[in-house]
Amino acid sequence: MRDARGEKRETGEHRLRDGLEEVEGARARLVYPFEQGPAQGGAIEVAPGVKWMRMPLGGALAFINVWAIRDGGGWAVVDTGMQTTATSAAWNAVFAGVLGGDPVTRVFVTHMHPDHIGMAGWITRKFDCRLWITRLEYLMCRVMAADTGRAAPEDGLRFYRSAGWDRAALDTYEARFGGFGRNLHALPDSYRRLEDGEEIRIGDHDWRVVVGSGHSPEHACLYSAALKLMISGDQVLPKISSNVSVFPTEPDGDPLDDWLTSLAAIKTRVPDDVLVLPAHNDPFHGLHARLDHLIRGHERGLARLRSRLAEPQRAVDVFGVLFKRAIGPDLMGMATGEALAHLNCLIHRGQAVRETGEDGVSWYRAA
Ligand SMILES: [Zn+2]
Repeated sequence: MRDARGEKRETGEHRLRDGLEEVEGARARLVYPFEQGPAQGGAIEVAPGVKWMRMPLGGALAFINVWAIRDGGGWAVVDTGMQTTATSAAWNAVFAGVLGGDPVTRVFVTHMHPDHIGMAGWITRKFDCRLWITRLEYLMCRVMAADTGRAAPEDGLRFYRSAGWDRAALDTYEARFGGFGRNLHALPDSYRRLEDGEEIRIGDHDWRVVVGSGHSPEHACLYSAALKLMISGDQVLPKISSNVSVFPTEPDGDPLDDWLTSLAAIKTRVPDDVLVLPAHNDPFHGLHARLDHLIRGHERGLARLRSRLAEPQRAVDVFGVLFKRAIGPDLMGMATGEALAHLNCLIHRGQAVRETGEDGVSWYRAA
């Protein structure tokens, strides 16, 4: 589970960072063309010159999907896995095995979460190649990594106190603060900026950068019209509702509006006939159905939340309205961030107001 800057390393952390697995996801009209994913150290060719591989994460989610695209005499890779010895062993196995000993030409990273960017510094140094990433993801990653070794800031404590956290939960936040940087190799000190809408030639094909926001600040997807492929990172996952959270660094932010706007934009920018290559779960057909399903799910959550606010509530009081599962200590940070994303969205829409008492605790009610 990730809070704004802190992070823990126990089982399940990776899934929690990226989002909660949904029951309804299975009901969306999606088609999974591959019966099985690649074995560890193996690869499946999902299109000519595009290989699907998996890097171990441990925990409930078990792995992240990474991709290699033929790039002349070498490979461009997309996303990299967490910084662990198991991941470097897995990469070394595919470098020598399914990638045929050819060099990595460049490393694309969709966004700054450690399961995506964790090995980017290691791979770029190993092959003396460039990291390709959007500017906000690069900068935010370096800012968060710089918190390692610092004490939890008063702003963060005030933020979670205001959400209704008790002393034990605040203690956990303080104890875990600054863990982000320990999950990734130091980033390279320079990078190639990816820009929204840019066309990039990789090997024989053009790939367009399609930026989304809300799960992370400037998340890059890669779309190839010729190959009918979209590498979606965590922006579109078939069975997980990606984490969209407010964090202490930007307590008044409205990431849910960013998220809903991004999903709607992708529907206009990427056709429905692509094979979606997500960072978690399996490749699937049915992009537009999935986008509609995600948007509808959040809008329904907002409507339920709004009626619950007939009586004033704290952020910690509305978990039951938004989540179909019990929220234990391990899910507190993400549940709070997501609850605040929905509450802030209602405030920005003029449908709710927040009042903060003298004890620093915020109460929300319908406007
Ligand atoms: Zn992520």
